[in-house]
Amino acid sequence: MIDSHCHLDDAVFDADREAVIQRALDAGVELMVAIGTGKGPPDLEAGIRLADAHPQFVATVGVHPHDAAKAVPDTWQRLESLLAHPKVIAIGEIGLDYHYDFSPRDVQRDVFAKQLRIAAAHRKPIVIHTREAWDDTIALLEHHWAPHGLPGIMHCFTGSPDQAERALALGFYISFGGVVTFPKAADLHEAARTVPLDRILLETDAPYLAPVPQRGKRNEPAFLAHTARRLAELRGVAVEEIARATTENFHCAVLLH
Ligand SMILES: [Zn+2]
Ligand SMILES: [Zn+2]
Repeated sequence: MIDSHCHLDDAVFDADREAVIQRALDAGVELMVAIGTGKGPPDLEAGIRLADAHPQFVATVGVHPHDAAKAVPDTWQRLESLLAHPKVIAIGEIGLDYHYDFSPRDVQRDVFAKQLRIAAAHRKPIVIHTREAWDDTIALLEHHWAPHGLPGIMHCFTGSPDQAERALALGFYISFGGVVTFPKAADLHEAARTVPLDRILLETDAPYLAPVPQRGKRNEPAFLAHTARRLAELRGVAVEEIARATTENFHCAVLLH
């Protein structure tokens, strides 16, 4: 399996990071995507540092919507130069977060659009974070992204079947995380049943959003197996089928095939 989204650079892993990585490998997670947003600009290399140190990681670079207000002109030059790093597979996570509003919304939209333009110019896929900002996110993607015909990943998808449909129409892959194992997520369960098998991905978003039965604890890539099992159960297929499809899909999503 591939964990398409995790934050193992987080300080909560400082004491036992190597053990966490070993547990992931033991649990059948062969590759992890180190999301490179870290603590925000000026440091854009949080993911690259992990990927440079470990063969089981590839990385992204990007400015998270929370950190949009920290970006300066130099941020974009640096971001563009890091895209040449051989383990950088995408720009992300980028998008809009109107739940926390850690950066003003107009700044979030500008920084999102800016990164969409950079990704398109460099033919790099994108990883999208969107929270309570669905309509604005889709509008910006339709305007700045859809015309380029490049793939993207809707990370930690928690929406409805209708929302999944809109993301699929834009050419996106839908990534399911721990929330799909939560018992009350009925709309999300329906989306998890209906998204075509060749468009689904798995992720943990570790250290956040641990799946049942680890809910509430620090999440880690080894827990991906719980999410894969729940997805298999919802779709009425074997877990091996989910592992195979999501691994293959990941390579298409990040243009590594
Ligand atoms: Zn996110
Ligand atoms: Zn994340």
